[in-house]
Amino acid sequence: MIRLHDILDMISAYNPEADVDQVKKAYVFAAKAHQGQTRRSGEPYLVHPMEVAGILAKMKLDLPSITTALLHDTVEDTVATLEEVEQLFSEEIKDLVDGVTKLSKVHFTTSEERQAENFRKMIMAMAKDIRVIIIKLADRVHNMRTLEHMPEMRQVAIAQETVDIYAPIANRLGIQEMKIELEDLSLKHLKPDVYQMIDDQVRKKRVKREKFIKDIKQVIIDKMKEHNIQCDIYGRLKHYYSIWKKMEIQHIPLDQVHDIVAFRMIVDNIQQCYEALGAIHALWRPVPGRFRDYIAMPKANNYQSLHTTVIGPQGERVEFQIRTQEMHAIAEHGVAAHWKYKEGKLIEQEDEMKFKWIRKLLEWQTELSDPAEFLDTVKLDLFADDVYVFTPKGELLEFPRGSTPLDFAYSIHTDVGHSCIGAKVSGKIVPLRYELHSGDTVEILTSKKKLPHKDWLNFVKTSRAKAKIRQQLRQDEQEKVSTIGRELLEKACRKYKLSINQILKSKELAAYAKKSSYDVAGVVASIGYGKLSAQQVIALFVPKDDLKNDEKDQKAESVIGKIVRKIKRSKGMVKVGGMGDMLVSFGKCCNPIPGDPIIGFVTRGRGVSIHVSNCPRVLGQNKERLINVEWDMSNASTRIARIRVVCVDQPGMLAKMTEAITEEGSNIAGASITINDDKTATNGFDIEIKDLTQLRNVIKSLERVKGIISVERVRG
Ligand code: MN
Repeated sequence: MIRLHDILDMISAYNPEADVDQVKKAYVFAAKAHQGQTRRSGEPYLVHPMEVAGILAKMKLDLPSITTALLHDTVEDTVATLEEVEQLFSEEIKDLVDGVTKLSKVHFTTSEERQAENFRKMIMAMAKDIRVIIIKLADRVHNMRTLEHMPEMRQVAIAQETVDIYAPIANRLGIQEMKIELEDLSLKHLKPDVYQMIDDQVRKKRVKREKFIKDIKQVIIDKMKEHNIQCDIYGRLKHYYSIWKKMEIQHIPLDQVHDIVAFRMIVDNIQQCYEALGAIHALWRPVPGRFRDYIAMPKANNYQSLHTTVIGPQGERVEFQIRTQEMHAIAEHGVAAHWKYKEGKLIEQEDEMKFKWIRKLLEWQTELSDPAEFLDTVKLDLFADDVYVFTPKGELLEFPRGSTPLDFAYSIHTDVGHSCIGAKVSGKIVPLRYELHSGDTVEILTSKKKLPHKDWLNFVKTSRAKAKIRQQLRQDEQEKVSTIGRELLEKACRKYKLSINQILKSKELAAYAKKSSYDVAGVVASIGYGKLSAQQVIALFVPKDDLKNDEKDQKAESVIGKIVRKIKRSKGMVKVGGMGDMLVSFGKCCNPIPGDPIIGFVTRGRGVSIHVSNCPRVLGQNKERLINVEWDMSNASTRIARIRVVCVDQPGMLAKMTEAITEEGSNIAGASITINDDKTATNGFDIEIKDLTQLRNVIKSLERVKGIISVERVRG
């Protein structure tokens, strides 16, 4: 447990002249206010504000921040008031405590319309005094460190909020240390089995890794001596969350993540950064495309460094970051470095100018008066891919960027989607194509009819809406085809004075249907599709000699036949030059699935072979033989796709995976399992897929399963 004198020692180490009386006073005030309170861990409550103050002292923050850390929960959780804080301390401290208290009331997962306003308050507090956010981040760090004392449900919710909101903010502020700790602690609670697996593996290879780090360091130190560069070098393991991200993005097991160790070199000046880089590149071959010059082009959060990855002495990838001491301070503490004392004064104005995006926030604050608009602008930056909108009841829903009222409608209920004719957004009527904005309150307008139109597929964004629209279109087509079939049959019946109802109920037709592996409805649909003629059915009931061969009737039938053929054309999965009846085959090399961008290759005598547009087999071919093709999305046939799933090897995994696949309406056509050395298993599944959307849904569904490390589609 941290003690008051630990905090005071830390402060006087970086700010020897600091008047720490205020900190002592805050300690006494907090101790009194929280007296008798305990945390869920059973510890006295005071431990929490003390730890938060300790985190900030370690980051060398100023006295008001540390004082506020000690007081931060007093107004919220005890009888203490803001007036008391102002009287005993200062207006500045009161404002900081007030800011942190207000932020504590913001919950990103609650579903109230106030949320847009709340988010605005949070950013406002941040723009007014960024220390409020830094204190709040420290508060979250300590709460995450002690998360295991919370009930499990709360653990997951808090960890999710941390990884969604707080870690990105720490990143935007450039506070790497906090970002890393928040991400790792979140992973531990969100994916405990993955975290444990990484931890086990990392521990197992510790001795080998430490020797590797020692060897590399020695080579670098010797090399830098040759160049007369004074250099500190550290080798460190990447944080678990970034290792997991690598596994997930590259779809590889842990032992294939090569650059899990990164080296950091700290030199005296910028010139030496480039000199050291040259020396390393002379020593080991750089990996192309991995060099980044963040010195010449700093990141938005003001981060500066040179990054490079080389092929190390044992053939493995090794990453280096090279920077000066000053760059290092900013990299670790980001915007917090701003409050570091330089000869007792704050860093000069010029440095402040560096944090451009904070100034931008301040500009927005004055320009935009509408909270929803503000939310939209700011969230755009933090969450570029999602929009957040509200139902009329105030429930918060999340959609991919570019989503429309139709996506919203289908997310509520399939029938609401089918009958959607528009929406009211914040009181105004908008068209179906309207793009939803964060903060919108959306009310769906419906009609009594089912209306899905093929055109809708061109602008809906969510896979759910797309799937539901396609399903309805298929059903509509089936109905259309059945009606046409029935009409054709009825017409033929009239000619022979037969009753269509009797025919449909007859044993003869039932037997005929069975023989052709249809049911009676299937026979009618086949007539509609033009696969069967009504005459063929009539022939079951009329002696051969009595069958008429009226030319006029045939003409009439062929007119209808044209309509039918139009529908029939959609039977091929691919249209070649707008035609559906071409002989096509699918490339085994790239195994395209409806939705993939595709191109056709005209073979000699085997029709058109269909490949994914960027399939290497096609790129090398004679351009004249390439032909434009497109998927016929109204087709209901399936294709086999292959996926590879890496998971933690534990009992019950296969059942969970199978369930996740079939849940999305896909069938498993084949499966294979390989157990790896690192307690993971690699599974191959061949699955029946209607289109890319369904494949993506299957992959998403699998990714949600606990214990699954990565899911990827395999070509060929
Ligand atoms: Mn707190």
